[in-house]
Amino acid sequence: MSDHLMIACHECDLLHRLHGIPEGGKALCIRCGALLYSHKKNSLDRTLSLVIAGLILFLLSNMFPLLEMKNKGLILETTLFQGVKALYNQDMRSLSILVLMTCIVVPFIQLSGLFYVLMPLKYNRLPPLTAVVFRFIRKLQPWSMMEVFMLGILVSIVKLAKMGSIIPGLSLYSFAGLIIVLAWAAASLDPHIIWEKMETGNG
Ligand SMILES: [Zn+2]
Repeated sequence: MSDHLMIACHECDLLHRLHGIPEGGKALCIRCGALLYSHKKNSLDRTLSLVIAGLILFLLSNMFPLLEMKNKGLILETTLFQGVKALYNQDMRSLSILVLMTCIVVPFIQLSGLFYVLMPLKYNRLPPLTAVVFRFIRKLQPWSMMEVFMLGILVSIVKLAKMGSIIPGLSLYSFAGLIIVLAWAAASLDPHIIWEKMETGNG
């Protein structure tokens, strides 16, 4: 962390100059007590490892079946993408596009975008368009809604269980892991590190 960091309180707008906040330390507004900044421990390394774990889980989630259904000796397997296609073919087009965006496209853009920014940053390099990419992935945050989809799957498992035996596929577990890893990565990410490195212009 650099020696001084100018920061405005998001509650009362009082401008502060922060000096050497230790790792794990926090800075509070002197006027209203709002949290100005918390220096997260090993933010870059931790977020980067979570992003790499997330990319692996993302691959597993999309490669393997989400569910297997056994009914009278018949085995049906569905992957996430096949599920999206099935929704589309059953005239639930807007829903299929929503699932495609919130469960596949947005998480992938977020993970690969973070990897693109954080990996070079770890070696004090700035990839081209860092600011644009970073701002974009932060804007996408509300569009990553895998937990809603996960809830939907769990409900349908309960309902489908009456029709035959349902075996959760590998993808379902990696999908659940991905939700946790993504939330964890978002929590351990310290955006100040990125803006600060950009300002000092390491290259
Ligand atoms: Zn304040």
